[in-house]
Amino acid sequence: MRARLIAGNWKLNTTRDEAVALARAVSEAVAEAVASGVRVAVCPPFVSVDAVAQALLGTGVAVGAQDVSAHECGAHTGEVSAAMLASVGAAYVLVGHSERRADHGEDDALVAAKLGRALAAGLMPVLCVGETLGERRAGREAAVVSAQLVGALAGVSAGDATRVVVAYEPVWAIGTGETASPEQAHSMHAHIRTCLGEAFGPDLAAAATILYGGSMTAATAADLLACADIDGGLVGGASLKPADFAAIARAAMR
Ligand code: PEP
Repeated sequence: MRARLIAGNWKLNTTRDEAVALARAVSEAVAEAVASGVRVAVCPPFVSVDAVAQALLGTGVAVGAQDVSAHECGAHTGEVSAAMLASVGAAYVLVGHSERRADHGEDDALVAAKLGRALAAGLMPVLCVGETLGERRAGREAAVVSAQLVGALAGVSAGDATRVVVAYEPVWAIGTGETASPEQAHSMHAHIRTCLGEAFGPDLAAAATILYGGSMTAATAADLLACADIDGGLVGGASLKPADFAAIARAAMR
């Protein structure tokens, strides 16, 4: 049985002290879900990853970052490397989030480079894929997601691929209050699992963790997580509210 993972993306929110306080409140609120075997992670802004990792020691809640450099080191002002993230306690890192793709022009080649750096540093990348509303209306959602997967995973070995988490995040559902229906999400998750099977074989596909993200709330989580191919959630807005985030984590309990 695949482990469930609920990850919070705090985006551009929280100063360092606020992040530590939020992390402490989240860890208390999700304790029951963590004890039952649900994996929980939070992704604060870069500057708070270290402090949040320290605050969460011993709680079972992991820390991730929201982005990572495509470079290993050197003259790349403003960048943060995968090794730097690992050195301050990050276990996960988001790559290819739609806000990075849209706001910073990240394409599949750049996402692939970031994913490779994350794997090389021992991190677990959460590869975000998803179609825009226009692409869904044109009936192109499966093709778009396949291309994003193939583009990002092209250079990844089957061994490393076991550490990749995929998050299906329809762009039209992120931060909009509009959630994909369980049928829409489940159909895309099954498609993603098929793509992973074609690339890495059926055993990896069967074991892969595939999250849903897009305005997931306590009210919508249970129906989404009841779908066989939905293994958890990547949660934005609701992850800033410990009680709401914990309710989502509890919905992931079996
Ligand atoms: C996200 O940022 O990955 C996300 C899913 O955000 P929200 O839950 O706010 O839609």
